[in-house]
Amino acid sequence: MKKIERPDLLIVGAGPVGCVIAERAAAVKKWKSLIIDKRNHVAGNCYDEVNNKGIRVHKYGPHYMRFKKKKVFNYVSNFTKWIKGDYVVKSKIKGKLYPIPINLTTLEKFFKKKFKKPIDAKKFLKKLQIKKKIIKNSEDYILSKLGKDIYENFYKNYTIKQWGIHPKNLDKSIVGRLPIRFNRDPYYVNQKIKVMPKNGYTNLFSNMIKDPKISLLLNTSYNKIKKKIKPKIATIYTGPPDVFFNFRYGKLDWRSLKFQFQTKKKEKIQECVQINFPNEKKYTRKVEIKHVTKQKSKFSTISYEFPNSKGDPYYPINNLKNRTKFNKYKQLIKKAEKNNIFFEGRLATYRYLNMDEVIEKALNLFNRLKLRY
Ligand SMILES: Cc1cc2nc3c(=O)[nH]c(=O)nc-3n(C[C@H](O)[C@H](O)[C@H](O)COP(=O)(O)OP(=O)(O)OC[C@H]3O[C@@H](n4cnc5c(N)ncnc54)[C@H](O)[C@@H]3O)c2cc1C
Repeated sequence: MKKIERPDLLIVGAGPVGCVIAERAAAVKKWKSLIIDKRNHVAGNCYDEVNNKGIRVHKYGPHYMRFKKKKVFNYVSNFTKWIKGDYVVKSKIKGKLYPIPINLTTLEKFFKKKFKKPIDAKKFLKKLQIKKKIIKNSEDYILSKLGKDIYENFYKNYTIKQWGIHPKNLDKSIVGRLPIRFNRDPYYVNQKIKVMPKNGYTNLFSNMIKDPKISLLLNTSYNKIKKKIKPKIATIYTGPPDVFFNFRYGKLDWRSLKFQFQTKKKEKIQECVQINFPNEKKYTRKVEIKHVTKQKSKFSTISYEFPNSKGDPYYPINNLKNRTKFNKYKQLIKKAEKNNIFFEGRLATYRYLNMDEVIEKALNLFNRLKLRY
């Protein structure tokens, strides 16, 4: 390895968190950062690339950007132009497509009824709801809100396929992430600000780290360099905590995905960006990202997602066993801060977090660092 100048910050992971911290550190404090990543690219799981037919694909699954907070949106807007992110998702059940998240149109189509007003649908569902005293898990949550038919057709098998775990054994927050609507909003996410970076995510995050005070070392794992590079100020670690602490309290479980891409000479292959398959097929969803990247081409690419217990860590498995284990690691994480090592991001905090959420967390962490050093 060629000799590397000692950086102010050593940042492990060139994903959104790593890029934001490096950018802020250079712009505000004039700190020099070295970002390392074991992968051969920046942008973490948001990475996109153009395939041999010229179609931009999201290598690690579709990324639908939305912002809860205007100030986070304003910050990210410094690094990209946007196009609209009108994400439309449907579920295929017994040959028919239904809007997802479940809304009035889904309920009407599924139950073959008309609901003039939201209250009509609410009254109808009330009769189907299976009320529980305590909502202990994902199954209880859906049964108590939507009843058995919707649970069995839309949620049960999809959850089993996605997680490899019965909804009875999964925290209610897993299915609770998806809204249930009593309007006809056809879009996948609730947020008003839904956008797609015009030239892709890789371009966005590359723009963020253009400052010459930021260096990048790809194909490099933390273990390989941790003894060789001691930062002057702090280390920011965005990888999994169990790996960092050498599995002292055991391995944290993650759900992974395998992606299969297929390109066809067709302007559009399916009717919306994402189609879910709860009850049929081995894959959970088929994604044609061109619906939202709005590329003009005679070709289009579909990705098929096959959930897997092996592979890159994508989704933390939120159950008692893993929460207990992670709480132990949390104590070590707190202690590490005393040695100027900070954990942030989706992997490091073992939480499913969206891009806008991790970006906000990275901005907050930088503000803490700014005051402390
Ligand atoms: C399938 C999927 C779909 C998603 N869809 C959406 C979506 O639609 N909308 C949305 O807002 N969010 C989505 N997300 C979440 C989004 O990907 C994350 O919020 C975001 O990538 C988190 O950024 P991060 O920097 O914390 O971590 P990551 O993006 O995971 O980046 C961490 C980086 O650290 C590197 N690394 C880890 N350990 C080490 C080590 N020891 N040494 C060197 N490098 C290391 C990794 O290689 C990785 O590049 C999705 C996530 C997945 C998995």
